[in-house]
Amino acid sequence: MKVITILGATGSVGVNTLEIIRDNPNDFEVYALTARCNIELLYQQCLQFKPNYAVVVSEDLASKLANDLAEVNSQTMVLYGESALIEVASAKAVDMVMAAIVGIAGLKSTYAAIEKGKTILLANKETLVSAGEIFIHAAKKSGAVILPVDSEHNAIFQCLPEYAKAYDEQTIAKIILTASGGPFLDKPLNELKNITPDEACAHPNWRMGRKISVDSSTMMNKALEVIEAYWLFGVPVERIEVLIHPQSIVHSMVEYHDGSFIAQLGSPDMKTPIGYAMYYPKRHKVNVPKLDFTAKPLSFSTLDLERFAVISLVYQILKEKNYAAAIVLNAANEVLVEAFLAEKIQYLQIIKYIEQALKALQFDKARTIDEVIAIDAKTRKYVVDLIGTICK
Ligand code: NAD
Ligand code: MG
Repeated sequence: MKVITILGATGSVGVNTLEIIRDNPNDFEVYALTARCNIELLYQQCLQFKPNYAVVVSEDLASKLANDLAEVNSQTMVLYGESALIEVASAKAVDMVMAAIVGIAGLKSTYAAIEKGKTILLANKETLVSAGEIFIHAAKKSGAVILPVDSEHNAIFQCLPEYAKAYDEQTIAKIILTASGGPFLDKPLNELKNITPDEACAHPNWRMGRKISVDSSTMMNKALEVIEAYWLFGVPVERIEVLIHPQSIVHSMVEYHDGSFIAQLGSPDMKTPIGYAMYYPKRHKVNVPKLDFTAKPLSFSTLDLERFAVISLVYQILKEKNYAAAIVLNAANEVLVEAFLAEKIQYLQIIKYIEQALKALQFDKARTIDEVIAIDAKTRKYVVDLIGTICK
């Protein structure tokens, strides 16, 4: 039986993780569940999974949840704030941590789990984009194992040989990340100006949280995933390729020097990569729709780099090893996507102002988590001021 903490239990990845636990109650014990503000769902989850701890962001929400749980004699203790997130991610009793908070908000708790040598089921790509070098270094030191949950990286992990789950120049020619292209792949650029949040979130293949859905539509998600692959597998940037594959059936592949391509295929359902990571190195039954090879043809095409300039941007950042720029890119994107979802800026302004932030802000490489947070905070301030000016 594995003891697990789920950071971001009420989100799309968190809920899928709990469904696997629900189907396999003898294999996992839930130590803690965390959420930002959806305490109604967190309350239900506490009753069903009986965690030792539930963590929310604010004191107000914590006392409301604690009262509700006390009324039904629940034994779950309610905590709040970042220090509580760190506590439940790094507690001695915990074997594995599902890192499924969205964005940089998950940085400190995920890092704490890495430092304590936990098995990290990593969904939160923004933390690796911002602090990849620091995370990988800390994991080597503590012995923490980072298992990718992001479907592409999980696919690559599955396609790498068991003896070395990393890039090896003697045998591997390329890591090929597939990209669906999102809902606007075939829409002319001049029709994107008035895209609404709901249109941007209507992904053709995946049901996900709103932030990652917008990222998928701008191709920022794939840009972040290039950086994610770079750190997870130690692969040189020129060995990473992005290939458009609108059906999201081939989740990614590895090209070997002997001419073989090994790919992982499946229905677009996050339960497959989540279940794989939860049971690694074994495989276990997961309830997902069976893939029907005859349902639709699979197609592939190269990426239009002029249209999706953000992909070229991250290749440049990685070629220059300008890792501070990755923090700026991520922080600017988080603020701008939030502003777009709140209808404060227009769709095309997301990428436009990310480019502007990258031009305006230059920082030295961050060597510690605090330095990452400082660059992130300065970027946020710059972008918030920028949006303020636009909105006026
Ligand atoms: P989501 O928005 O559905 O859920 C986010 C979770 O994080 C929620 O539980 C929320 O309460 C919590 N959270 C948000 N802000 C917080 C804060 N400031 N402090 C503490 N907790 C906070 O997101 P999601 O789609 O589940 O994605 C989670 C992560 O997994 C993201 O980094 C995303 O890129 C990655 N991911 C998701 C999918 C997917 O299918 N949804 C696929 C691949 C990778
Ligand atoms: Mg992905």
